[in-house]
Amino acid sequence: MPEHDEVAEFSRLFLAFLERMHETPQGIARENVRDRLREHLQVEPEDLPVVAASFPSFDLPNVQLALESWFDSSEVIGLVGSDRGHHSLADLLELGAGRGRFGIGAVDYQRIAVDVGVEMDCVAFGFFLGRQGEDRYVALLRAANPQFGRQEVELEVLATSRDAGDRLMKALPDLIREHNVFRGKVISFERHEFGHGVGPFRLHPRPGVSRDDVVLPAGVLERVEREVIGVAEHREALLRGGQHLRRGVLLYGPPGTGKTHTVRYLLSRLPEFTVVLLAGTSIRYVGEACSLARKLQPALVVLEDCDLIAEARDHLHGGENPLLFQVLNEMDGLAEDADVAFLLTTNRADILEPALAERPGRVDLAVEVPLPDAAGRARLLSLYGPTLDLSPAVIDEVVSATEGTTASFTKELVRRAVLLAAEAGTSPGDTHLQAATAELLSARDTLTRRLLGAADPR
Ligand code: ADP
Repeated sequence: MPEHDEVAEFSRLFLAFLERMHETPQGIARENVRDRLREHLQVEPEDLPVVAASFPSFDLPNVQLALESWFDSSEVIGLVGSDRGHHSLADLLELGAGRGRFGIGAVDYQRIAVDVGVEMDCVAFGFFLGRQGEDRYVALLRAANPQFGRQEVELEVLATSRDAGDRLMKALPDLIREHNVFRGKVISFERHEFGHGVGPFRLHPRPGVSRDDVVLPAGVLERVEREVIGVAEHREALLRGGQHLRRGVLLYGPPGTGKTHTVRYLLSRLPEFTVVLLAGTSIRYVGEACSLARKLQPALVVLEDCDLIAEARDHLHGGENPLLFQVLNEMDGLAEDADVAFLLTTNRADILEPALAERPGRVDLAVEVPLPDAAGRARLLSLYGPTLDLSPAVIDEVVSATEGTTASFTKELVRRAVLLAAEAGTSPGDTHLQAATAELLSARDTLTRRLLGAADPR
């Protein structure tokens, strides 16, 4: 080829290259998304109906796993184009038919915590090109993005037959339940930073509290175990006998006596239970918690410090707090045969009592978690101070001096004794425990004592 022909050829190619660059904002010539979908579906995508569904934002990993389980095989492709988020699947197809506007690109992923220290890369914007038998599907999955007004996970599906699309949509709720990553996990959640709904879930390690770690008067723990664990163990017999499984247990008593500790013990005993923990302001999400519990049963819904939500009054609901009203309604709204236990804790049963008494049936068992008696305090000393070398006389002396104090007080007493011994460079024993007791019961430590839930010495 003569030299000037080569130059002419190069300039023709270069011009074409510039033209293509101009068309594709990302600067790379990309395959047209519509052509790719067409190739997969083997029909014109525009001829197929779109079916759509939305899901709570936290269900993103579950929707993805449900889709993957529905397809015999699938691949995911992404899309480039800055305004793609604002268009429906039908719009994207139409606009994507123009050269280069929406080219195929990388899939967007979002990392979601699905267990303690475990994250899953979830498709936040991507087309699943799937097959099931003879049917072919295109499913566009988008994560919620409350910052930009998308409150829910959105799914739009094109299928080669209406029936195939409908079958998938109908199967999804069960598949989501079946593949739910949150089943059997301990979860809490709060408000979404930008949206009105629930934010990302927080996953918690399941505690490992054994029965011997819980010091309560005889019979107290047994009653709670029977209602919460026993009912689960006898699920079938109860259902056969027409009895309800849904149950509510109220643990009440002064702070620091072991209500939360007892809840943690129950969590340890029920490893297969999904647990939703709500405390303080997150109690407003009791509706979401109940719907999760129903889907992921057997489940425990823990409502900590219920008195905090019950204190404020409101004239709209007969002078009652609307949140407490909502909690009681949601508890009642859950099907009776659901294996869901509600565990409510409070330091102020008197505040909750009128509302609970007005609507019987929500709480089947109210158990007082009292201040430890002398035998309890002695057990707590050995539980929290197994390394303390104590004489029986000093144990008796400290046990009687600490009448009216809480379990958490004894725990702190032991910690101080160990600290005093460490400061003195010796191993902890009688003198350290006596000194710690004198310190904690002294007038100087009145506030500490109150913070530990202890009454003033008599
Ligand atoms: P509450 O929920 O009644 O205010 P917590 O359960 O939070 O009290 O108690 C605080 C800590 O004190 C617990 O984590 C536990 O270590 C200890 N504790 C409290 N009560 C008991 C108990 N009955 N038996 C053993 N330890 C206890």
